[in-house]
Amino acid sequence: MNKDLVQTFGVLINRAERVLIISHIRPDGDAVGSLVGLGLILEELGKEVNLVLEDGVPKVFHHLHGVDQVVREVSGVYDLIIVVDCSDIDRIGEVLDEYGEPDINIDHHPTNTHFAKLNLVRDDAVATAEIIYDLACSLSYPISLPAAEALLTGLLTDSLGFRTSNSSPRTLRIAANLQEMGANLPELYKKAMLEKSLEAVKYWGRGLSRIQQEDRLVWTSLNLQDRIEAEYPGRDDADLINVLSRIRETDISIVFVEQTDGTVKVSWRAQPGFDVSQIATKFGGGGHKPAAGAEIKGDLERVQEEVLEATRQSLGRA
Ligand code: 5GP
Ligand code: MN
Repeated sequence: MNKDLVQTFGVLINRAERVLIISHIRPDGDAVGSLVGLGLILEELGKEVNLVLEDGVPKVFHHLHGVDQVVREVSGVYDLIIVVDCSDIDRIGEVLDEYGEPDINIDHHPTNTHFAKLNLVRDDAVATAEIIYDLACSLSYPISLPAAEALLTGLLTDSLGFRTSNSSPRTLRIAANLQEMGANLPELYKKAMLEKSLEAVKYWGRGLSRIQQEDRLVWTSLNLQDRIEAEYPGRDDADLINVLSRIRETDISIVFVEQTDGTVKVSWRAQPGFDVSQIATKFGGGGHKPAAGAEIKGDLERVQEEVLEATRQSLGRA
C-alpha cells in the first residue's frame, strides 16, 4: 500500500482518542471481521472505540470475541470516524446521517467512490480484513488473538474459503500468519461458512424449488412469504447465491430477495471473464467483477424483469 497513506493513517490514529468504526448493512464476514478486528487493534493501542452496524451482528458471527461491543446506533462525539468494507456511503445505512463526511474509508471494492477524507482503497485485496492486517503490520500495531480471529473470518468469508479466483499465495500466507497467532482456521471456517440453521436451509429450499434457467443464466427469488414460512430471521438470501453459483452450466447467477420496505436485494455471481459489478452499478449498487449486489426500488416482478434484461444485454444476448 502507498506509504504516505499508511503514514497519514498512523498520524490520525495517534492523535485520536475516541474512534467510531462502522461497516455496511446486511453485514457479511468481512464487514464484521474488519470492524471487530480493527476495533480490537485500536483498543489495544489505548483508544476508546465504538463499533456500529445498523443491522447488528448476524448469529453466524456471534462466536467472535468483541462482537458484543457492536451497537446499532451512533451517539456521542468522535475524533475519528472510520468506515470499513463499504464502497459507497449509502451502504452504511442511515446511522451516520448527522455526522458528515467520514474521516477514513478502508475498502477493497473496485467500485469504491472515495467518499471519505482519507481513502485506503486497494482492490487487489481479497478482503478488507487483509488491508487492516497490512496496516497493523506496517505500523507495528499488535494483533491480539481475538483480533486475529476476526480478521481471519473476513479473509475466509470474502474468499469463500480461498476459492475465489483472486485467492493468492499471499492470501494463504496472511491466513497462515493469523493461524500462527492462534486463530483456529478449521473452527472459524465451520462456524462462519459451513454451519447453517435449519431455517436457512428451509429458506434455500423455497428458492431452489423455483430456480429458472435461460442459456447460461440461472436465477431464483425469495419473497416475504418464503421468509415467514421458513421462519428465517434475516433479510438476506441466507447465502443461497453461493449455492446457485456452483451450478456447472452457468456463467451468471442471480438471487432476488424481496424486502419489507418496497425494495429488492439483488445478488449477482459470475464466472471469471464476466463483470457483474458494472450491471450492479447501473442499479445503484456495486461490488467486484465476480460478485456484486444492489438494492433496487420496486416490486419483485418488475425488478426481476429489469435486472434480467440488463444482465442479458451485458451477456450480449438481448
Ligand atoms: P452480496 O451479493 O453477497 O450481498 O454482495 C456481493 C458483493 O457486492 C459484495 O462485495 C458487496 O459488498 C457488494 N454489494 C452487495 N450489495 C451492494 C449494494 O447494495 N451496494 C454496493 N455498493 N455494493 C453491494
Ligand atoms: Mn469485503
